[in-house]
Amino acid sequence: MNMSATYMKRILDSSDPESLSSLLSQAEKVRLEHLGNEVYMRGLIEFSNICRADCFYCGLRKSNQAIKRYHISAEEILEKAEFCMDLGIPSIALQSGEISSDREVDFVARVVSLIREQSTKDGSAGLGITLSIGELTYAQYRRLFDAGAHRYLLRIESSDRSLFQSIHPAEQDFDKRLECLDALKDIGYQVGTGIMIGLPGQTTWHLVQDLYFFVQRDIDMLGMGPYLPHPDTPLYLSSQRAAIDPFIGTIKMLALARLLMPDINMVVSTALQTIDADGLKLGMRAGGNVIMPLLTPEEYRGDYSIYINKRFRPFYDLQSEVEAVGYQLAFGKWGDPLHYYRNRKIPYPGQRSTGEGCSL
Ligand code: SAH
Repeated sequence: MNMSATYMKRILDSSDPESLSSLLSQAEKVRLEHLGNEVYMRGLIEFSNICRADCFYCGLRKSNQAIKRYHISAEEILEKAEFCMDLGIPSIALQSGEISSDREVDFVARVVSLIREQSTKDGSAGLGITLSIGELTYAQYRRLFDAGAHRYLLRIESSDRSLFQSIHPAEQDFDKRLECLDALKDIGYQVGTGIMIGLPGQTTWHLVQDLYFFVQRDIDMLGMGPYLPHPDTPLYLSSQRAAIDPFIGTIKMLALARLLMPDINMVVSTALQTIDADGLKLGMRAGGNVIMPLLTPEEYRGDYSIYINKRFRPFYDLQSEVEAVGYQLAFGKWGDPLHYYRNRKIPYPGQRSTGEGCSL
C-alpha cells in the first residue's frame, strides 16, 4: 500500500480513537488477506546474559553489576529444544547478550547443528532455527548459517543515525550495524530487524523514517516493541521525553508496517505484552503474526533483564488468548516469511513441517 510520509506521521500524531480503530481494521484486513489467521511460534531460549556491549537502555549491558551472569549449557539447550518439539512449537529462537569470540560462535554453531540433528532424526523437517546474538563478522554469520540457522534478528533500534548514537556508546557504530544486516542478507538468512518505540528524544518523524528503512532494506521479519526504562541503565535518567506513547505508538507502528509490507513476519513482542494486558490481542489485530513463547529455564529468567518485570506467560495461556480472538497457533508449521520466497522467486516451501501430522 502506498502511503505518504505526512499521512503516516499524521496517524502517529493523532489521538483520535476513531483513526486508531480504522487503522487497526485496515491492518487486520490486509493481514487476513495475505497471511490468514495463523500465528507462528518461535520457542525462545535466552541462553546467556553475558554481554560485551554497553547499550544505554539495556539491563544486560556490561557495566551493569546488578545482575548475575549466566550461560546455559549445550545439554540444557537441547533439552529445551526437545520440549519445544513436544509442545508442537516448530521453531526455536536462541538469544543472548553479545559475545563475539570465535569460541562462543563455535559453541552456538555446535548447538545449532545438534538441534538440527536431533530434531530431524524422525525424518521430519525438524526445528526451524532463529538466532539473535548480535553483531558478528561475515565469516561468523556464515559459519552459523552453514551449521543450520536460517533466520537472524538484529534490530537497528533506530534508523536515525544520531538517535542511534545517542543511545549507544561511540564504539558501537551505526554503520557496523548496517554492515551486519547486509552480511546476513548476502549469506541468505531470513533477516529481521526492528526498533524500540518511545525512546527519549524519538519523534514521530524518526518513526516514519524507520518504516521507510524497513521497506528499503527489504526485510523479511520485523520486531518492534515499546522502550521500557530500566533503572540500572544510564538512559533511565534521561530527562528527554518521547513524542509518542510507547504502547499505542507500537500498535500504530505495527499496523502501518503491516499495510506497507503485507507479506513479512511481524512479532508481537514480549515487551508489548509486558506494558499492557491487551498487548497480545491488539498486536495481533495490528498485523502481528508471530509470538515467541518463553522456554528459558525458570532459574535464569529473572537475570535476563533487558528490561524489568518482563511478563512470563505459560504457553497454554498464550494459546487460549490467541484463540479467544479468532486467531490460531500454527502447530507443526515453520512459518517462514512469505516475503523471503517471493523476493527470490522461489516457491514457498509449504511442505515443510515438523511431522506433527499438521500439513499445510
Ligand atoms: N544481543 C542481542 C539480543 C538481546 S537484546 C542483540 O543485540 O540482538 C534484544 C532486543 O531487546 C534489543 O535489540 C532491544 O531492541 C530490546 N531491548 C533492550 N533493552 C530494552 C528496553 N529497556 N526496553 C525495551 N526493549 C529493550
